[in-house]
Amino acid sequence: MKKYPIQIDKNPKLTASSPNHLLYQDNVRMHHLLNELLDSAKHNQQTQDRFHQLEMFLLESESFEVLVGRILNELKRRLRLSQVELYILDINGDIRQLLQEIYGALDYPNYYYANTVTEIKNHYDSSIRLTLTQDKELINKAFSGHAGQSKSAVLLPLSRGVRLIGSLHIGSRDKERFHPDLASNFLQHLGSIITVCIENSINQERFKHLSLVDILTRAKNRRYFFQIIESEIARAKRTMQPLSCLFIDVDHFKKINDTMGHQTGDLTLKALVKNIQPLLRQTDILSRFGGEEFTILLPNTNTREAYETAERIRSHIAETIMYDTEDNPFSITLSIGLSCWQPDKQDFESDEAVQNYLIHQADEAVYQAKENGRNQTCPKL
Ligand code: GH3
Ligand code: MG
Ligand code: MG
Repeated sequence: MKKYPIQIDKNPKLTASSPNHLLYQDNVRMHHLLNELLDSAKHNQQTQDRFHQLEMFLLESESFEVLVGRILNELKRRLRLSQVELYILDINGDIRQLLQEIYGALDYPNYYYANTVTEIKNHYDSSIRLTLTQDKELINKAFSGHAGQSKSAVLLPLSRGVRLIGSLHIGSRDKERFHPDLASNFLQHLGSIITVCIENSINQERFKHLSLVDILTRAKNRRYFFQIIESEIARAKRTMQPLSCLFIDVDHFKKINDTMGHQTGDLTLKALVKNIQPLLRQTDILSRFGGEEFTILLPNTNTREAYETAERIRSHIAETIMYDTEDNPFSITLSIGLSCWQPDKQDFESDEAVQNYLIHQADEAVYQAKENGRNQTCPKL
């Protein structure tokens, strides 16, 4: 904003008591006042621009993971804060589960879930409302992470209407930065934008997730498998850790459909997934590749460990009693093919070549297991 300083005659030939002198003093006062107001307007304009740019940056986040990263890191950097903590209200734990399924654990150090409104309220003084504070005790309550880094803080409820979705806590080393008397309209606006961003991106993740899950078994689908194998190969390359892949094919599944009906076939596939899932680590990814064929990606897993997992699954399923639609017991067996990529030992020209290798080897191995009589894992150790 352009400044228009008032021109003042610095050498008026006046006596102290003349009316012109009083006018001059008035003029000087006005001059200072006006410049102060212009400075303040300029400062507000700069703050508004900074907030506006930040809000645009948050609105452009393409996923929840990116959004949270920007809230925690970019907000801190751009607004020169000492601390930022984000709390998401997740009463049924479904947001956590959804994001866990998509991203694995979101391991941002200052990102928390609150299971109850009370958990969020405990950070505040009495009620959940926008709070600017210099109070040491309240600042300590605001942050679960390191206390004592901030001399003033803002507790910003994230809510749409009466619906609370979380709380954002920001701190500054400057005691005057978030003085309780400070105008809070910028913060209020930022809070509304962050709320909308969080709600939208969680909804988007829900849609995305739906398109990556197999409706019958609730395992991940083939599309997800091809997405995740790419990112797991990239991770394995980065960490130089082995990546294993299992292909699972139900033995004589057609016979189940033919003798007990298609509905029993469906129930069998559901039961199969339900029985395999608890045998896996949180980082292992089970997908329905198609029909009665499943894949499991095992990050940080070498051939021996993958073989052990495959055998645990195979023997557990062989011993599991299943029931058809008329409650008649039966059981199924699996043929499992195994492949493993060791980035420190096997060089490929591209990530795509690694992917082809993992899939082709596991597929060949299933075929071998069938040839060798089914109900087994190949290659054998
Ligand atoms: P093998 O031991 O050689 O694997 O024999 P198989 O009978 O399992 O192999 P095949 O590939 O011939 O048969 C797979 C069957 O799986 C055929 C198909 O009807 C059935 N199937 C595929 N998807 C579904 C499904 O969603 N529900 C049901 N009930 N059956 C399915
Ligand atoms: Mg098959
Ligand atoms: Mg089969």
